[in-house]
Amino acid sequence: MMAYQTVNPFTGEELTSFDEISKQALKEKLKKASTCFETWRKNSFDERKKILQKVANLMRERSDELAALVTLEMGKRIKESKGEVELAASIYEYYATHAAQFLADKPLSPEKGAAYVRNEPIGVLLGIEPWNYPYYQVARFAAPNIMAGNCILLKHASNVPQCALEIEKLFADAGAPEGLYTNLFISSDKIEELMADPVIKAVSLTGSEKAGASIAAAAGKNLKKSVLELGGSDPFIVLEDAAIDKTVKWAVYGRMQNCGQACIAAKRFIVMDKVYDEFVEKFKGALEKMEPGDPMQETTMLGPLSSKSALEGLEAQVEKSVKAGAKLLTGGKRFEMQGYFMQPTILTDIPKDAEAYHEELFGPVASVYRVSTEDEAVVLANATRFGLGGAIFTADEKRGQKLAERIHTGMVFINHPTGSQPDLPFGGTIQSGYGRELSSLGIHEFLNKKLVRTCDINDK
Ligand code: NAP
Repeated sequence: MMAYQTVNPFTGEELTSFDEISKQALKEKLKKASTCFETWRKNSFDERKKILQKVANLMRERSDELAALVTLEMGKRIKESKGEVELAASIYEYYATHAAQFLADKPLSPEKGAAYVRNEPIGVLLGIEPWNYPYYQVARFAAPNIMAGNCILLKHASNVPQCALEIEKLFADAGAPEGLYTNLFISSDKIEELMADPVIKAVSLTGSEKAGASIAAAAGKNLKKSVLELGGSDPFIVLEDAAIDKTVKWAVYGRMQNCGQACIAAKRFIVMDKVYDEFVEKFKGALEKMEPGDPMQETTMLGPLSSKSALEGLEAQVEKSVKAGAKLLTGGKRFEMQGYFMQPTILTDIPKDAEAYHEELFGPVASVYRVSTEDEAVVLANATRFGLGGAIFTADEKRGQKLAERIHTGMVFINHPTGSQPDLPFGGTIQSGYGRELSSLGIHEFLNKKLVRTCDINDK
């Protein structure tokens, strides 16, 4: 099998493939990135901004074509694909607009003399990104770092090669110098060796725990910094005072966005006893209405999963959970039709040793738990090794905020499904990774915080 391949998840058809980069070509690309850094680092924010704003503008101009490619390669519904293109464009624009302010010198107030901290770029960074949001994931990493003066080498997931090439083209068409943003068709097993190359100064990976552990090890071995955005099994807590119809609407969105293939999708619904029956009945009703269809059609409610292996893996997780004692309230199997479609599924009464209890379910499968106190809700919410996001629905915002303090995740949203926007920090804790992307925090991950101190040694 070729390293990089487009397989349409709606038809199962293998459409195109790309060869992996040769050793020699990789060497040349590393050299170009390294050379580019020497000039790019000296450019003003205004010069950098011109390129990034142009990337944002081009994304908007090409929205239809870019969106169609996402849908073709990983099966996202076309409406959502267009939303993703706009979100990615808004991230490029956000950093183009705000980077100068975020990275201004920081004056310090030492007892004697003067001092400030300057934010200097560190060089060529390697980004490793997943297929689930092919443009958004790259934007989160590339936009802040390019504005900060770093250069990017990008290893995208092997099932979205055409999206990967389009991103590189956006930069080229925006007038980026050669080496500023470079796509690499390189397989995962060559990354460890690449990490040892002195040109690479740091790495950021968004993906699974397994990939994260392997990258963190390679980074550690080479004394290079890493940022990891990994999996999640986010709780969605429904308190007894929540407005149920509104909560159900956003529970459906939270679980079913991107066909359930989002790291911050709501995965475990923890519902107070008093409203449990009503919530579950309405949630089930809404999921059962979701008909599978062609993801290229604007009216389609449910698209396919990204690949055959994703479908098989999820189906097996559900099967094993049911064998372990979980109850299947609806769904549970693939749709018997063309494409990698999984039925919207609800599991309840999930025992502690079931896979659904402790593993991430990356697709349209909701785990629902009944609790009778807030304390019980907190115990369940924290009964996972993940710590990415979470949501709380309640009529009492103060109560929601108090409860949020007890949830061990990087993000908690009150009366809103966990989400992402350019001006809010994104990231997790525990096994969901470390470091932050987006907002003013995301641009400070890969910088040399250089102290410049002025104080004559002879001054008293
Ligand atoms: P994955 O297998 O880890 O793939 C993600 C990326 O890592 C791909 O580019 C993949 O390349 C590469 N990769 C895999 N193993 C590697 C290794 N040993 N060394 C270097 N690179 C490696 O992830 P996935 O299962 O496709 O994606 C879904 C996961 O990502 C879920 O767990 C999800 O929650 C997580 N995710 C997290 C966030 C977040 O922000 N926290 C956002 C989105 C997704 P190949 O395709 O070539 O294998």
